This record gives sequence, structure tokens and C-alpha cells, in this order.
Amino acid sequence: MASRYPTNTLTSSQARDNSALVETEKVKPGHAVISTFDLFSIGVGPSSSHTVGPMRAGKIFIADLQELQMLEKVRAFTLPQIRSNEPFWKVKTVKIVLYGSLAATGKGHHTPQAVLLGLEGSDPETIDTGTISSRYEAILANRTLHLGGTRRVTFDMDRDMLWRWDQVLKTHPNGMRFSCFGEEGELLATNEYYSVGGGFVRLTHTTVDENLFYKGVDKSAVHGARLHQTHNAAEGDHTPAQPAANDPGHPPYPFESGNSLLALTRKHNLTIAQIVHDNERYFGLSEADINDKLMRIWAVMDDCIRSGVSTAEKTLPGRLGLHRRAPMLYKRLMRGFYPGIATPDLQLIGSASTAPVGAIDAPESDTQSSSSGHGVDGRGEVSASGKMPRAPWVTGSFDHAILPMPPRKTMIPAVDFLSCYAIAVNEVNASGGRIVTSPTNGAAGVIPAVLKYVIEFISDDPEKSIKTFLLTAAAVGMLFKRGSTISAAEGGCQAEVGVACSMASAGFAACMGASPETVLQAAEIGIEHNLGLTCDPIDGLVQVPCIERNSLGAVKAVTAAQLSMASTGVYRVTLDEAIEAMRLTAADMSVKYKETSLSGLATTVKIPLTVPAC
Ligand code: SF4
Repeated sequence: MASRYPTNTLTSSQARDNSALVETEKVKPGHAVISTFDLFSIGVGPSSSHTVGPMRAGKIFIADLQELQMLEKVRAFTLPQIRSNEPFWKVKTVKIVLYGSLAATGKGHHTPQAVLLGLEGSDPETIDTGTISSRYEAILANRTLHLGGTRRVTFDMDRDMLWRWDQVLKTHPNGMRFSCFGEEGELLATNEYYSVGGGFVRLTHTTVDENLFYKGVDKSAVHGARLHQTHNAAEGDHTPAQPAANDPGHPPYPFESGNSLLALTRKHNLTIAQIVHDNERYFGLSEADINDKLMRIWAVMDDCIRSGVSTAEKTLPGRLGLHRRAPMLYKRLMRGFYPGIATPDLQLIGSASTAPVGAIDAPESDTQSSSSGHGVDGRGEVSASGKMPRAPWVTGSFDHAILPMPPRKTMIPAVDFLSCYAIAVNEVNASGGRIVTSPTNGAAGVIPAVLKYVIEFISDDPEKSIKTFLLTAAAVGMLFKRGSTISAAEGGCQAEVGVACSMASAGFAACMGASPETVLQAAEIGIEHNLGLTCDPIDGLVQVPCIERNSLGAVKAVTAAQLSMASTGVYRVTLDEAIEAMRLTAADMSVKYKETSLSGLATTVKIPLTVPAC
């Protein structure tokens, strides 16, 4: 039977988009500038590409259906409908197909939850993260999806969501197709979406790139400057950005590479942060808007650290049954930073708990270590708990030329604080909490950790440090996004933790008053020693190696900045060369190491099943 309605291939509201495409095609792709607030956006864990992007894609699809009035009732068409004199709903069912990496690791990355709640009209920035699990369970149990919050359709997970991990769409490994069907099973509308990393979504047939729509779901509300965006260079196009101070189609300080960014700083006597700040004005933001948005981003980051170290939950979701470590790490630090969370007494590492009333409970692992012989202060005295000490167990022979080392733990403040902050954020991310993609969710701990460290230990003007850090880091993120990728499905973990490390290193150096050359060199060192870093998350969860990797990324970022600031100013490798090396490495990397969980740790580690797989 012929369809009663024309099939719509939704290319984001064709008419408006086509005119936008015509506009953008006039402009030669040439610069790296995007808004800081697209690079750092507030979302939900555990993954920017597998959770935030798919949720946004679902909402974009629904917004387009609403615009086409496809979620409304229409007049009766068939004889029985005419007889009943009842209007009927156009859309009867929806189908979702996940491709490539989204299908391979989507389950552990909460992709189904994200897509379905996006189709129900939720947005990553505003969704109540505490309701995600229950809403998802309700959809599965009731077999009902509430499209856009207005139209209920039946939804059978087994029948209506297909997992094509064996197929990769041409545009990007993270592909998805949404389709909706009418009464007679006829296709009413369909479109493909690509979650290209960092929460950015690209639509099929959108030839310019995903930044045409940035992260704005409501395209009519997207600032006009974004519709002229030419962020990504076309394949093989290395045309330098044109100086365009008077060109309304360009930001005031367009840069396409680290070198051109440096040239701008010299020519205009501006810092990197100042250049990025002034470019934000081009996106329609006032001075107050920029300030508010930067402070809001930091507030969410800081809140994430706070909730990570103060949570009462002991384990992370998923079959690994991983213990949350941030509360324990926080407790072990010398002092706390959050009012309302009691400061634990300083104890030697591993000593028995003497936590005052109101202090954060030690996680199970801490308690376990106390009860397994670490309740001694190292001198054989009775611990504060009153328990008799037990001699620490030493592995190794005492009848040997190389005597074994006695067990010893100590705090190295920089490392311990950075680790605690980063792990706190990534544990919140792994549990599906509120997160700032920076530049992705899997790598969301690095930048907050280093910035928190700056604020707590170095800065004498926190607000200035926050602005300088985030704007400088954003510039570096833009260079990676244009010159290489920030998607693990395209480049492995070098594109996530590697890029975050580079961005944080630049931010740290900038807060230390380093010159723009030194800042970009810090960014170069930050990525150089992450080149080739693979993505092989166990069980498709953003937990192992992800959580610890963020802590190491934060430590490495500070070290990279320190090395850069201690150098003589003669640099062998530029940031542009390192970004190009990353691009080439990504291109050569096996798909097994690109967020597919098909090799590496994902296959060598045997998962201790805590629940039956069925
Ligand atoms: S290994 Fe790295 S890239 Fe892969 S999921 Fe974990 S943090 Fe993301």
C-alpha cells in the first residue's frame, strides 16, 4: 500500500538548513574558532560521545518532528477513522539503529538511556540525573515511549532498537539512525546522526560540519554567527585563515593553528585567553555573559569534585562492582576544602580510622586495609583504635644481598590532591552524574582537577585564574578539534585524556604567567606523551582504565607545564606538529582501540561477574 504521507528525510528542517548551507558554502573553511561554551558544555555522564551526543541527537530528531507537526493529531483519513470521526496520531512507532562504536560499547556508556530520554525531549544540560535510571526502567517495563513529552507510542526494546556493531556509517564511527512510522507501517521520517565527540552532533547531509548547529538543539535560537561557522577544514585543505578583522563572517581573531594563534598574540599584544575572550563576543555574548558562563562551568566542575568526594555510595554501577575511591582519597588528604564536610584528623596513611563524628566514612576498601594489619603507626605501637598492632607483612628474603623494602606509604601533596580531584569527577561521571564535557566526558576529570589545584594552592585571584585557565584551555581544544579529533571512536584515548591533558597543561602554564609560546609548548608536551594512547574500556564502562587515567592525565599536565616553563625557549616540536602526529596516529590506529572494547584491557581482563549475565 502506498504511503499516505510523503516520506521526510529530516535534514534539520530542510528549508532553513538549505539556505544556511548555501551561506556557509560561500565561506572557505579556514579557522579553528568555536565557542568556548560549545567545547565546555554541561551534560551528563558517562560519555560525551555515547551519552551526551545521542541524547542531543534524540532531542534534535524530536524537535524536527515537532516542527513538521508530525507529533500532532491529524484529521481522519481511512473509512473507519472517518466513521469514528476521530482525529488520529500520525506517528505510530519509532525505530533506532545504533552503528559501529555506539553499538559496540553503547550499553556500558548508557547510550540506550540517552537516546530514549532524548526522544522524550530531555536535554543533557537540564535533565535531572537522579531520574535517568527510573525513567529508563519505566520505558522498558511499560513498553511505552513518550515522544517529546506529548505523544505516547509503544516501544519494545528488543524489536525497536537495533545494534549494528558490525556496520559503520561512512561519516563517523558513532552513527545512529532514527525513523518513525505511521499507522500502516509506512516510513514517515528518518535521519542519520553522528556523535562526533565532546557532545557534538553532526547530521547526515549536513555538509559543512556539526558546528553549523553547535550544541544548540533549538536551531532557531542559535546565534547567527554560528551559522557562518567554518571550523573544520575540508580534507586536505590547509588554507591559512584570512585576516578578517572587518569581515562579519569571521570572529575578530581567527586562528587555524598554534602558529597563527601565536602570531595573533604578538601582533595584537594579547594573551591567548584574551583572544578567546574577544572571539566569544562574536558569538553574541556580552562581557557579563562570558563571565557568568565561565563561572557557571567552574561551579559545575567544582560541584562535581565535591559530590565525588562526599558521596555515601560505595560502588559504581556496572558488572565490575568497582569501589568508589574519591571519598577515601579525600579523607586521606591533610585538609578539606568544602564547608559541611568535616576535616578528618591527619593520620599516617593506613592507620586505623579515628574519624570524628561527621567525617566522611572511609570506603570499604579503607576499612578493609585497616583490618588487615595496617592499623599500626609504623613503630609497632597500639593504634588509636585500641587494637593490638600487627607487624606489617614484608615480602622477600632477609637473607639476600638486596634486602626487601619495608611497606611505606606517604602523601605527595600535588599528586594526591590532583588524583583525588580527578578521580572524584570521573566517578561522578561513571555513575551518570552531572558533568562538564571538557572536552569529553571520559576525560572530564583532568581539567577540573588541575584548575582546582591552581585555585587551592597557587592562585591569589581565583576568579581571574578560572577565566584565564578555561579560555586558554579552550583555545588548545579548538586546535585539536580542527586539526585532529576529540573523539575516541576516531582517535582512541589520545583524543580524550591526551587532549584534556594538553588543554590543562596550557591552562596551568597560563595561570603561572607563562608567555603564549610557553603555554603552547606546555600543551605540546601534554599531548606528545599521550600519543598513541588507546581506548579499551573494560566491559564498555567508562571506569577502567578511564578513572585512573584522568588522575594520571592531571599529574602529567602539571608536569608538562613545569617542563615547559623550565625550558630555554628552544622548542624542537611545535604544538601543530604534535596535533598532526596525533591525527596520523589516529588514522593508523586499529579500530580495536577506538572505543570498541575489542582489544587491550577489555579482552585481557576477565570480568568478575557480580550479577548473572542473563
Ligand atoms: S579509555 Fe579513554 S577514551 Fe576510552 S572510554 Fe576511557 S577515557 Fe574515554
